[in-house]
Amino acid sequence: MPRRRNLVILAVAAALLTSIGAWRISKARCFQLVGEMTCRVETTQKIVALSFDDGPTPEGVDAVLKTLEPRGINATFFLIGKHMERHPGQGRRLLAAGHELGNHTFTHTRMLGKLPSTYDEEISKTDRLLKAEGANNPVLFRPPFGKRLIGLPLAVDRAGYKTIMWDVEDDAEHHPRPRDYADDILRRVRPGSIILMHPMYDHSQTAKDALPLILDGLKAKGYRVVTVGELLALRRR
Ligand SMILES: [Zn+2]
Repeated sequence: MPRRRNLVILAVAAALLTSIGAWRISKARCFQLVGEMTCRVETTQKIVALSFDDGPTPEGVDAVLKTLEPRGINATFFLIGKHMERHPGQGRRLLAAGHELGNHTFTHTRMLGKLPSTYDEEISKTDRLLKAEGANNPVLFRPPFGKRLIGLPLAVDRAGYKTIMWDVEDDAEHHPRPRDYADDILRRVRPGSIILMHPMYDHSQTAKDALPLILDGLKAKGYRVVTVGELLALRRR
């Protein structure tokens, strides 16, 4: 029956297009269906925020602090709850060095198609761990893999958090050499950018080695590097 077959083909095509559309929207850096989100701040000042995702791992924290401390730079670390549980005290170390902590869920799985209570729990468990490390009223949230549709943003709002995306992401896959990785980021940065890097893992040596090159490159370009919270505060002035 060709008519019926056509209908089936149409239905499959519609379902496919809808899911492709939802998939694209779910990973859009600067667009979200519901709730507020920030991927950069509109400003003419040469200021950028630096953010690190995942961890904490003791090696990752060591490497990043070693580079940030002598330069007097503070950044924002979006930490995973289960990693904080595995490595207690690392969040506290970051806070003691003047950095800002954000919430990156407990399990770091894709936050799509789950129950509202699951989203709530992912955020609240991590919130408790951040507070146990000494974070005072953490409000910055970053979705794992940047993925979110409707359920997660609503849960972020309910928890009193703000969704923070980025406009400049590291790309170690295409730029495995630290110099290239750094230049790729330095090329894309503009006033008000939020930079995202992944230096916490054993396989993140490129990110660790590139960090000083990025910071020195930003300085040479006349940029001041701040935390996400400090960048957001520019909007309120
Ligand atoms: Zn992540």
